[in-house]
Amino acid sequence: MGGAHIRTDLQTDPRTAAAAIRRYLADRGVEFLLRTSVGSVSEGRVTTSRGIIDAGLVVVAVNHDIDQLLPELAEAAGVQRCGLDMLRTRIELRAPLDAPLLTGWSLTRYGRFAALPQVVAVRERLHTERPDLAALDLNQMYTQLPDGTLIVGDTHVRAGSIAPFQPESAADLLVSEAEALFGAPLRVIERWQGVYASAPEDFLVDTTVPGLAVLTATTGIGMTTGLGLAETALAPLLPAPATA
Ligand SMILES: Cc1cc2nc3c(=O)[nH]c(=O)nc-3n(C[C@H](O)[C@H](O)[C@H](O)COP(=O)(O)OP(=O)(O)OC[C@H]3O[C@@H](n4cnc5c(N)ncnc54)[C@H](O)[C@@H]3O)c2cc1C
Repeated sequence: MGGAHIRTDLQTDPRTAAAAIRRYLADRGVEFLLRTSVGSVSEGRVTTSRGIIDAGLVVVAVNHDIDQLLPELAEAAGVQRCGLDMLRTRIELRAPLDAPLLTGWSLTRYGRFAALPQVVAVRERLHTERPDLAALDLNQMYTQLPDGTLIVGDTHVRAGSIAPFQPESAADLLVSEAEALFGAPLRVIERWQGVYASAPEDFLVDTTVPGLAVLTATTGIGMTTGLGLAETALAPLLPAPATA
């Protein structure tokens, strides 16, 4: 429970991090084409709604929209869309969470833990005791924001396309489980549905076409692993940095 377990662990808030990264890169001369859609990609070439862009290397990182941009590649990798319901809440915690709090419902789904033999028994117990939570494909986890509010996660549904309707019964269960765990009443202040790419493998990486690199996290770990994936997958394709 709680606490950073790796010295280099870092918690960021995606609501501000993405914009901060964009500002940082823009200050260093990176050009962003906003309100621009990509219709097709090929070797070193991107066709956009603002015209054609030629580049030495095209990197495709469009998450679940890979199923529209490169449908054959997505189908071959078994990509589906995964829809998630989440909540932001107010609750009086006895002690602040200094790191995201994961439960058994989380650990049984993340690769390194899920591969342990003991996980079979844990998952069986959880599913036998709480079929209602298992039916939500629950990832019971919590993250506290700097303003003290608590992010409550999350349910999962996989399909070719995700309906926008979010059953209130799922939110009720997220709330009652959080209240039981923290022993305090909770008030929902935001709800949302997110979507990410999902496939049997954790990542879809395809660099078979020269000048084209497709990088997709195909499970819910892309925020945590995305920058590392970019570094490891792109390093062999980029010229080595000049040494001083
Ligand atoms: C509710 C939810 C909870 C999550 N929880 C976690 C978590 O706890 N830990 C974790 O590590 N990960 C989590 N994830 C997963 C993580 O957010 C994603 O894996 C990650 O954001 C993927 O990053 P990305 O840059 O590849 O794609 P995205 O951040 O989705 O960005 C893709 C971009 O491509 C753009 N795009 C798509 N198609 C086109 C096109 N044709 N032309 C132009 N632009 C296009 C989109 O508009 C979008 O801006 C969660 C995801 C959701 C939805």
